[in-house]
Amino acid sequence: MLNIDLHCHSTISDGTLTPEEVAQRAHAAGVDVWALTDHDEIDGVARARSAARALGMRHVGGVEISVTWAGKTVHIVGLQIDDTNAILKQGLIETRTGRQARGRAIAAELATVGIADAYEGALKFVANPDMMSRTHFARYIVELGICRDIPDVFNHYLSEGKAGYILHSWARLSDAVGWIRGAGGIAVIAHPGRYQFNDVAFGAFFDEFKQLGGTAIEVVTGSHTPDQYPYYAQVANRYGFLASRGSDFHGPLESRIDFGVLPPLPANVKPVWHDWF
Ligand code: AMP
Ligand code: MN
Ligand code: MN
Ligand code: MN
Repeated sequence: MLNIDLHCHSTISDGTLTPEEVAQRAHAAGVDVWALTDHDEIDGVARARSAARALGMRHVGGVEISVTWAGKTVHIVGLQIDDTNAILKQGLIETRTGRQARGRAIAAELATVGIADAYEGALKFVANPDMMSRTHFARYIVELGICRDIPDVFNHYLSEGKAGYILHSWARLSDAVGWIRGAGGIAVIAHPGRYQFNDVAFGAFFDEFKQLGGTAIEVVTGSHTPDQYPYYAQVANRYGFLASRGSDFHGPLESRIDFGVLPPLPANVKPVWHDWF
């Protein structure tokens, strides 16, 4: 059986390894088919493709787009995208705009709870200045010794309702799905188990995503707990979604799940890659 990992990050967004290093790590862990899915940026895709080719690993063009739906942030992964598509590129530029101003606002909020100079501190961890993310703030706060690890920083400072959280408007769901489809790609709901929706909101979200032409959902991901795998397999079947699998790897010391250790998809779902090979 092929080991397929369709969700991870590099220094192009909030990962700690370069696209080439991520490719090597995935390959070394036994991944056969791999997509790099950086947040709101596809500059790493060509590098990922070359690195994968050099290693003899199959590569799939990917991205993870930040979306605001019903006032909440959700993530939509695009797979099999053409990374030269001009409309997708422009859409991602617009989605990224405002990350630096948001970073300033996060830093100002953190200063009110005694964490000074967080903008400059976070910036030390940023490789791509357009893609300043909460993860970079989290790394700085861990470095300061204020929190023991990144999830701890999110729990205390960076999640919704916490001191350093800044409400931000990302892309529209219709735009994100449209850009992905326009670039020849498949739109996938990333880590649904992380969203704080009630059943009614989840139903509306899945229905709207499907109406827009979204076709897949992550079932096995490093962002889900094992009990969520069978649950989202059922959801996939109920809505007629294809199922995806990916580690959501961000870095060797940070990720809940490294490459090559997630279980396969449950047997009762149709994989998003069912017609790729
Ligand atoms: P941003 O796009 O700047 O809002 O940052 C979102 C990123 O923060 C996600 O892609 C994750 O990498 C990270 N993140 C969000 N919530 C958590 C959490 N509870 N624990 C660890 N990382 C998180
Ligand atoms: Mn991330
Ligand atoms: Mn995500
Ligand atoms: Mn991700």
